[in-house]
Order: sequence, then C-alpha cells, then structure tokens
Amino acid sequence: MEFDFENVEGLGFQTDQFFMEQALRAARRAYQAGEVPIGAVVVRRGEIIARAWNQVETLKDATAHAEMLALTSAQTAYGDWRLEGSTLYVTKEPCPMCAGAIVHCRPDRVVFGALDPKGGAAGGWINLLQSNPPLNHRCEITMGVMEDECVGILKSFFRDAREKKGPPKPGR
Ligand SMILES: [Zn+2]
Repeated sequence: MEFDFENVEGLGFQTDQFFMEQALRAARRAYQAGEVPIGAVVVRRGEIIARAWNQVETLKDATAHAEMLALTSAQTAYGDWRLEGSTLYVTKEPCPMCAGAIVHCRPDRVVFGALDPKGGAAGGWINLLQSNPPLNHRCEITMGVMEDECVGILKSFFRDAREKKGPPKPGR
C-alpha cells in the first residue's frame, strides 16, 4: 500500500498503524536472532530515519533496548541530539531507562503497542514522559496501536522459550 505523505492530515490512525507495522518488522528481526522481540522506528516528516530492534543478547549489553538503539541512530540522522519534530514508534511500552533517554532526546510523540503494567514508564506502571512536576520535556503518548500483534509476538516468543527451556536459537 502506497502512502501519500503529502496528505497525511486526518490519516493519523492509519499512519500510526503503518509505522507500527514497520516497528513490528524490526521486532521480527529480534525474534529471529533469539532476542526478546521488540522493535522501534523513529519517524520525521513522514519518513523513517531510524529503525532498530532489541539486541541485548547479541551485543551483550543490557542497555541495547530497541528504543535506545533507535534514538542513537536517529540522532546520527538528525546530526543533533534534539529529536524535536519526530515520533518514536515502539512495539512495547518503554521501560524507565528508555523513557529517561526519550525525555533527554525530546521527540514530540511516543507511540507504542503493548502496555506494560509491571514495568512500563509511559503510563503503564509510571509515567516519566508526562511526569508532574515535569522533567525537561513532555511527550505526547499514543498507546495500544496494533496492540494484539505487539502482544502476540511477545507471547509467542516466551511460549517458544518455555517449550525449549531456553531462548529460541538464531536462524529459526
Ligand atoms: Zn527499555
């Protein structure tokens, strides 16, 4: 399906679905690599400027969450750490570390699929993106975009992992 990005006004919902599908594609890459399947993209003016997936196991780096890698890549694309005017799409609600990084990088919006009532820092457990008193930046939040798909891929990953008594091997 082709998108007319000159005319996205009034197409907010469809546009969010389109970009969340791209984040889900990134999550599938994580799944294939035996990583918890979470993917993220950063969008500016209707264009994807960064895409990333969780790589904690691959990089042996507990900070290598999809959002962190996508933010770093977006800063490179911007040539600036200020991501004003951009939207971060991520398949699962950001954790406190990622929410902290998001506040520092200042995207306008954060859109996510799966809510995380136990550890989410964008309203599920706590809300660092819209804290009161506010941190140095507040983001608009849209939650639950393609929630079924975003939850489904996580459930299926953990089901596989339980059945195999270990994380899925790369190349599955
Ligand atoms: Zn995180």
